[in-house]
Amino acid sequence: MPATESAPGPQRVAVIGAGMVGLATAWFLQERGIQVTVLDRTGVAAGASWGNAGWLTPGITTPLPEPAVLRYGLRAVLSPSSPVYVPPRADARLLRFLAGFTRHSTAAKWRTAMRAYIPMNRRAFEAFDALTAGGVDATTHEAKSFIAAYRTEAERAVLLDELAHIHSAGQEIEFDVLTGAEAREVEPSLSDGIGAAIRLHGQRFINPGEYVHALAESVRARGAALEIGAEVVTVHDEGAGVRLVTSAGADERYDAVVLATGTWLGDLAQRFGVRTVVQAGRGYSFSIQLEHVPAGPVYFPAQRVACTPLGDRLRVAGMMEFRNAEAPLDRRRVLAIAEAARPLLRGADVDARADEWVGSRPCTPDGLPLIGRTRSPRVFAAGGHGMWGITLGPLTGKLLAEQIATGRQPAELHPFDPLR
Ligand SMILES: Cc1cc2nc3c(=O)[nH]c(=O)nc-3n(C[C@H](O)[C@H](O)[C@H](O)COP(=O)(O)OP(=O)(O)OC[C@H]3O[C@@H](n4cnc5c(N)ncnc54)[C@H](O)[C@@H]3O)c2cc1C
Repeated sequence: MPATESAPGPQRVAVIGAGMVGLATAWFLQERGIQVTVLDRTGVAAGASWGNAGWLTPGITTPLPEPAVLRYGLRAVLSPSSPVYVPPRADARLLRFLAGFTRHSTAAKWRTAMRAYIPMNRRAFEAFDALTAGGVDATTHEAKSFIAAYRTEAERAVLLDELAHIHSAGQEIEFDVLTGAEAREVEPSLSDGIGAAIRLHGQRFINPGEYVHALAESVRARGAALEIGAEVVTVHDEGAGVRLVTSAGADERYDAVVLATGTWLGDLAQRFGVRTVVQAGRGYSFSIQLEHVPAGPVYFPAQRVACTPLGDRLRVAGMMEFRNAEAPLDRRRVLAIAEAARPLLRGADVDARADEWVGSRPCTPDGLPLIGRTRSPRVFAAGGHGMWGITLGPLTGKLLAEQIATGRQPAELHPFDPLR
């Protein structure tokens, strides 16, 4: 049950967006005795929070803009089978995003952004553990193995270099360097094509769809209203409170509102002074059966393919398609992921795919999320986590709930100020 002590801040808060970030924020607001309504235009986990890879990997949670991404991007972004794709004709928002992203893809900017992530990464599991202790009925799995696998030692050098940078930025991550044969001993599902690997320690994973639904159930059981099918079209700051208007014409007042609308964050946040572009970095996934379901995530960094065991199936995910979030699923991308994975997995039937999915990572040009107060003291942003909204969603909710309830910004959130 939620704590019942009365909070000095707002008593009734609306959260727009029933993804990991919005629901975690709702849950932690309830911890502080705040009455919550969650609104989503489509459903629980209807956005990026369903078909993602479900990695809880604070050890490798790093800013997306970095020199290697840029080098790679410029070389290969225009091919439909490339793991990073930019359409040949970009709209104004995408051009702004790409210009900013390019500006931030330097080693110095990466180090600054990394320093912002480290205090969050240190506490990421604490927030998951609080949800578990508070009765959220879903498992976070310790990754008994977490293998990054490569064809060659030369390919592996890229991640070893990245791990050295992560380490010198001050973040701890333990790992072993393995031969292909050693990696197959740990994960028999790796094919003979794997010649080198890295095993990461201390990470976790979830089935993200199941987890976010369990979180929604917990939020509901603790007294929140979940309004599904409610598309918020306008947020009015009325001084003493906020008024939300939905596309169906419903009109409701709250003391404060949290915008947790993922890739669509800018639509509602812009008029409250949030100028950072949130661009859809679309990713794809599907699930397959294979003889040995791995005991933990398997990552093929050179192909940018991320695999996660979900019960008796393996989810295979990848692609970074900087494109309109509303564009239909592009089958060429699904096939490109399947073809990339085929020679690297043993005993896998990549042609019998289920759950084909596309979803949009909410990406910002500086690689940092937007968490905190906007120009209005009653309107808060929570989103823009790009590749890491599952890992950092719960802690985001915990810290933002603290800020909303107490009026004080936790130190960890300084670099993520939505008005930057
Ligand atoms: C292929 C892929 C793999 C990934 N793997 C990982 C991973 O392993 N680990 C990790 O940490 N992260 C991963 N991510 C990133 C992660 O999925 C996202 O960062 C995270 O899900 C974002 O959550 P969110 O709650 O901010 O947004 P979303 O889950 O997108 O939720 C936003 C919600 O807002 C609703 N909404 C939008 N506008 C309105 C409106 N006007 N009114 C009402 N409702 C509205 C939408 O319907 C949606 O439900 C991956 C992403 C992809 C695509």
